[in-house]
Amino acid sequence: MGENLVVKTILHLDMDAFYASVEQLDRAELQGRPVIVGGHGMRGVVCACSYEARTFGVHSAMPIARALRLCPHATVLPVRMARYQEISGQVFEIFERYTDLIEPISVDEAFLDVTDSKRLFGCGWDIATKIRRDVRDELGLAISVGIAPNKFLAKLASEQAKPDGIFQVPEAMDDFLLPLPLKRLWGVGPVMLQELEALGLRTVGDLRTMDRSFLEGRLGKAGAMLFRLARGEDTRQVTPERELKSIGHEDTFDKDLWQSESMHVVLLDLAERVATRLRRHGVMGTTLTLKVKYADFSSVTRSRTVVDGIANAGDMFVLAKELLDKTEAGRKPVRLLGISLNNLQEAGSGQGLLFDGQRQRQLNDLDRAMDRLRERYGEKGICRATLVGHRQRGLSED
Ligand SMILES: [Mg+2]
Repeated sequence: MGENLVVKTILHLDMDAFYASVEQLDRAELQGRPVIVGGHGMRGVVCACSYEARTFGVHSAMPIARALRLCPHATVLPVRMARYQEISGQVFEIFERYTDLIEPISVDEAFLDVTDSKRLFGCGWDIATKIRRDVRDELGLAISVGIAPNKFLAKLASEQAKPDGIFQVPEAMDDFLLPLPLKRLWGVGPVMLQELEALGLRTVGDLRTMDRSFLEGRLGKAGAMLFRLARGEDTRQVTPERELKSIGHEDTFDKDLWQSESMHVVLLDLAERVATRLRRHGVMGTTLTLKVKYADFSSVTRSRTVVDGIANAGDMFVLAKELLDKTEAGRKPVRLLGISLNNLQEAGSGQGLLFDGQRQRQLNDLDRAMDRLRERYGEKGICRATLVGHRQRGLSED
């Protein structure tokens, strides 16, 4: 019982019309217009559709032929999963700024337990607002957020929040919960819904009037679960399933790079972004990998292992520069650079012995100072002098 006394703050975050929104983002001419994403021409089904298409009655899983009868002027596009996954990675990186307790549900949906983050970032509503702002400002996309003391209610709340909103389950929870139709409940599919309707039940309020033994007798284990859900009870924890194995960043350039100076500027930027995330997770790594993709799309990786560990941007930058010299970068034009750190472990005391102690401390202090400034002024507000030109010229994608 004791551990349940702390009221948790759980967020359920769900990108709005994700695939269709990414297509509208990448093709400005489609903004504000009905977009259907789905495969295989007229015989396929709708995987996703923009809100503009939904107003015509189009919804996912509908045959595309039918969708086009409802909304003949819609633009139908193929699914570009690699692109959605790329954006998804950026969305989850934003989540990571606010908590480590992230349970991914799909490419565009996750539960976050922010109970312990409130000390740093304000109440659940404040955190939801910050995440929505980051996603809007940095990616140009809308995400809706539900806030509640548990996963079940948070998921219901995010549906309520759509499109492009926040909904917090009120303390007088029943006002929100009891009028909801039963199909909104977690685990209630078409078959279960029929059984419940056969009992004369339509809303969560109706379900609430049934006693536990009756529901268990009729529906078994599912009956016991529904008894709890009808009372807004859910003890499932937010469980981060992916163990952190590596941290990396990469940039693709609008124009191929020829100059090693430009590449060094990019490497410093990448090193700093990786270092920021290392510190947030309290980890260091032992193997640094540099990835170079040339203009002809062929790519190479070069790695170096430092048994004492690599933890700060300075070390990573020096190593990445050395590794770059072992590639054909410069002799061949480069379209992408990436660095990643593997073999992660908890950051200990004797980290990063590439430099002597004093230089090491200076670098660590510099890294930490820049983290603080970034937190105050945002990612783009502060960067080392050598990075200013790079950002202003828009060399990299971000
Ligand atoms: Mg979604």
